[in-house]
Amino acid sequence: MHLARFPRVRLFPAPTPLERLDNFSRALGGPEIWIKRDDCTVVATGGNKVRKLEWLVGEAVAQGATHLVTQGAVQSNHVRQTAAVARKFGMKCTALLEHRVETNDPDYLASGNVLLDRLFGCAIEYRPPGLDMNAEAEAFGEKLRAAGERAYVIPGGGSNTVGALGYVSCAQELIQQADEMGLVIDRLVTATGSAGTQAGLVVGMIGINAQVPVLGIGVRLPKDKQEANVHRLAEATAAKLGLAGGIPRAAVVANCDYVGPGYGQPTAGMREAVEMLAQAEGILLDPVYSGKAMAGMIDLIRKGEIRKGERVVFLHTGGAVGLFGYRGFFERVG
Ligand SMILES: *Cc1c(COP(=O)(O)O)cnc(C)c1O
Repeated sequence: MHLARFPRVRLFPAPTPLERLDNFSRALGGPEIWIKRDDCTVVATGGNKVRKLEWLVGEAVAQGATHLVTQGAVQSNHVRQTAAVARKFGMKCTALLEHRVETNDPDYLASGNVLLDRLFGCAIEYRPPGLDMNAEAEAFGEKLRAAGERAYVIPGGGSNTVGALGYVSCAQELIQQADEMGLVIDRLVTATGSAGTQAGLVVGMIGINAQVPVLGIGVRLPKDKQEANVHRLAEATAAKLGLAGGIPRAAVVANCDYVGPGYGQPTAGMREAVEMLAQAEGILLDPVYSGKAMAGMIDLIRKGEIRKGERVVFLHTGGAVGLFGYRGFFERVG
């Protein structure tokens, strides 16, 4: 693999920190837990989409784009990060926001990520739930092109083979960091949604033969669908990189037992995870992705499926801004 073959812009100082969570590990009486701080990717309070945007916006700039179009749920972290990066490169940004979570909560509808989208001057259009949102974004891009604009359309979550390069690169960065520290990683755990993060990590780990299993914890789809999405994107990304032999289906593992009632709908486990990490380590997770992923990891540790002697790295994908959209849930006592 040779990532420099693809256009890129630099958005944050790498590597992001890799920290050992002593208090949290002790509280769980379990494995040695480390955290890869991709919540510290700087732009617009950071998060995993910034890594993907290095490659997506690299391609957009190479194509002379002047307008980024993307889509997401109302509290999309991806939209917030895209809106900010667009401004850095002097581009306009339009986001199509899907009312995916059924709620009238004014915090959800107007605080958190949405507030920041507006500060970045992002044009917002809303869509009802259940549409093919990537098709909606493509159609919007076509409309802009017909009007003479140079539009670059980024799929939801930045999850295509270009965006996934960000997490191929992250896998390389993480292994190099661990090697320098003398840390043997037994397992890498991440939230998995639109699939680009996990797909990129799997391709990256296989590409450098690191032999580190990646466990995705799902936040939306059932296991079979999520694994199929991740595998499809991993195969396509591996092909783009000329990785011989493809990606074994068994390298893609997702546990989707922690979604709760649905995407973006809070769970008791998520709340426990967010409060535990905040109070043990002073680190903020988010209610939609990293909080549910951490809830899953905590449960798997308690059940002994992640074993006591393991050294586990949890990828912190960011998103804490979303907490402000869930104020009512966190303020409720008990
Ligand atoms: C988008 C997102 C994820 C999921 O990453 P995918 O590449 O979409 O699977 C995880 N955590 C946060 C905070 C996110 O915003």
